[in-house]
Parts: sequence; structure tokens; C-alpha cells
Amino acid sequence: MTSLNVSQRVGSLKPSVTVAFTNRAKGMRDAGQDVLIFAAGEPDFDTPEPIKAAAIGALRAGQTKYMPTLGDMPTRAAIATKLSEENGIGARGAFGGEHIAIGAGGKHVLFSAMHCLFDPPTPGQEPDELLLPTPAWVSYAPICQLAGGRVVEIPGHVDNDFKITPDQLRAAITPRSRLLVLNSPSNPCGTMYAADELRALARVVAEASDVAPRLVILTDEIYEKIVYGGIEHFSIGSVPEVAERTITLNGLSKAYAMTGWRIGYVAMPGPFGARFIKSLGTLQGQMTTNICSFSYAAIRCALTDPAVRDDVERMRQAFAARATLIDGLLSEIDGVACPRPTGAFYVFPDVGALFGRTSPGGARIESAADLAEALLTEAGVAFVPGEDFGNAGSRHVRISFACAERQIEDGMRRFADFVSRMT
Ligand code: PMP
Ligand code: GLU
Repeated sequence: MTSLNVSQRVGSLKPSVTVAFTNRAKGMRDAGQDVLIFAAGEPDFDTPEPIKAAAIGALRAGQTKYMPTLGDMPTRAAIATKLSEENGIGARGAFGGEHIAIGAGGKHVLFSAMHCLFDPPTPGQEPDELLLPTPAWVSYAPICQLAGGRVVEIPGHVDNDFKITPDQLRAAITPRSRLLVLNSPSNPCGTMYAADELRALARVVAEASDVAPRLVILTDEIYEKIVYGGIEHFSIGSVPEVAERTITLNGLSKAYAMTGWRIGYVAMPGPFGARFIKSLGTLQGQMTTNICSFSYAAIRCALTDPAVRDDVERMRQAFAARATLIDGLLSEIDGVACPRPTGAFYVFPDVGALFGRTSPGGARIESAADLAEALLTEAGVAFVPGEDFGNAGSRHVRISFACAERQIEDGMRRFADFVSRMT
């Protein structure tokens, strides 16, 4: 029996700490413990009614069979229309449904996209590189490594809202650069790039086309609708110099409170874009085939129904109020520093000033993981430790404020009390 094993590639894959911590906290709460969960990266709202009605209608109408692998053309075309009208994608060249792939969540299409871009290196060859501004969502690096790439972190700093500069990007680009991942609004930072900052990064990529001719941008815009800090969301894929080098990733999980539905998509305009999407279809055809057949009607509804737009706005306003609340409460806690959140529903405070102290329960706190563990077990507050968000995250914890204001008040009070009793 000892010779039974799982593949090395999967055996060494890092589990998702966000998923693991959320599940652990939910398990504790389900077992009757008093735990306030700030770990889950999912809206606490229910999916808007018209979207549910659209799916139920499609189900009742018998939309229960296999569908085209990447989605039916009307739905792919509806996504292309959304992206061109709202985000300025594909403004200059060919752009339509054939440039869109729909998969089982943003994570799934990210996984497929990375596998269509990276190869495991052959012996003697250096791996291709992912340029990853950090702190970054915990899944980018492991998925890239699984696909065969090497992760090159470009560290952001808390004093600059965790954003990287054009000079940092320029310095990181090499002939092996394959993919630059951008994520604005950011998970876990809760901050955003302004349009000019993204244009400047686009210029660096365009100017580096002789050094790194195979470099592609993947911009993860899954939080685009959750913005409230005065910075407008901007899609780097609308910048002409990089338009046909840019994959735009989005999905329905966050904007429409549809995490459980598992719907995500990627878009890439131009002739290479069409080829890339086709290759994604080949991969997905050997993987999952289409997503749930009656989801397509729900996607079209989410993207086009004016009543849904009102629901999205209502949720955005709720997140805005929560952001103000949590920012105010955290700023009163000594040893905890974070930029004002402007998008998504996270804050990522620097808690490094608390390292070297002892928790109220007697645990020595030397890292974000120690702090998150002690907070969970001693105070019943679940934050995600920052280590897996990249080296730049190791002094931080991630707090998701996709929960009621009352919970934010109670949780931050518990956190403040815990910190005040550290010695
Ligand atoms: N990108 C980012 C930045 C995220 O936070 C998430 C949330 N898990 C995803 C992509 C993927 O979301 P989903 O798979 O639910 O579409
Ligand atoms: N994106 C969410 C988070 O970061 C959901 C969990 C996950 O997929 O990582 O918490």
C-alpha cells in the first residue's frame, strides 16, 4: 500500500488558505462556537430575483442538455457587448462572441487560461515567468506553478496602496516573461489603480515587446462593480497598444452575489485572441464541457436587466457604507495600519507592529498566521493570515467586510479588545 501516491504536481500544490480558513471557521460556527467570520470572499446578499427567475425559466423550458463547450453564442455575444460598451474592450478590431469563453467561475477560467499560456519547462530550459504584483489573491501563484510557470513577485507597498510602479514593472520584465496579472479592485488589498496608472503600466508592456514578445496581460476585474472610493474602474484591455495582448477576466460571483453558481468568463480580442479562446475550448472540452445549461439565461439577465442594475447598485452602496465603517474602527486600533479601501470588500491591514507580543491567551505572536490563529481560537474572530498572498503580505491579515454592519462592529470590538490585552 505504501507505493500508492498522488501525483507530485498535485501533492505539492498549495491549498487555498482563503477557502480553508473560511471552511474551518464555518465548521466551528456550525458546531455551536461563537465565531464571527471575516474570512469569506463572498457577498452576504442573495442573488437578485430576476436572475433566479431567468434560470428557473430556462430550466422549466427544458434547457437541460449539453451546450456548446464555451457557452451558447447569444450568451457569449451578450458578454462581448457588455465588455465593449462598459469596458471599451475590442474597440479597434474584431471582437465578438468568438472572443469569449465561459467557464465554471473566475477561478476555472483563470486555471484554463494559465494552462493555455504556460508549459512545464523541458530539461535545461528556464520556466516562463508570471509577473505578479503582490499582495495578490492566493490562487494566481499556485495555478501558474501547476501549469509549469515560475512566479516573479513585484512587491507593492502599503504606503502606495499596494500598487506597483511602471519602473518596478520595467525592471521585472525578461525574455521569459509570459504573463502579467493585474487585479483592480484588488483582493486582498481593497485598493485600485487609477486609469492613468494602468495606462502607464500598459505603456511599459507595449514598449517591452522586443524584450518580451510573448508577454500577455491578464486583468482580473471580478470586483469592477464594487467601487466606492472615488476612483473609477478602468479596463487596461481598452488601451489600444495592449488591447490584443490582454485577457480580461470577469465573472458573476461578486457583482451579482452568485458565488455558488460558478460562472466566470475571459475575453481576448483580435486574431490571436480568437485562437487563444479556441484553445481554451479544447482544454475545457476535455475538462468540464459547458457550465450548467440553465445558467446561460441567468447570465444574459444579469448583464442586461435594468432591475438587476438597481440591485447591483444597492449592494455597492452597502459595501461603501461598510468600508467607511471598518476603516474608521480599524484606525482606532494601535499597531494596525491600512490604506483606506476604495474597491472590493477587503482590507489588508499591516499588523506587523503586534509581532513579538503575547496574546491574551498566552500565545506568542510572531507572524500573521500566529495572529489569525490566536484571534480565531481565543476571540472567535476569523481573519485570513496574509502569508499566502505573497511575500509582501506576510505582515498583514485579510479582513473581508462582506457582512452586516453589526458584525463589523462586534468583530472590530473583539479585535481591539484582543490587541489591547496583548502584552
Ligand atoms: N479573482 C479574484 C481576485 C477573486 O477574489 C476570486 C474569488 N474567489 C476569483 C477571481 C474567482 O471567483 P469565482 O471563481 O467565484 O468566480
Ligand atoms: N475569492 C474568495 C476569497 O478570496 C473566495 C475564496 C477563493 O476562491 O479564494 O476569499
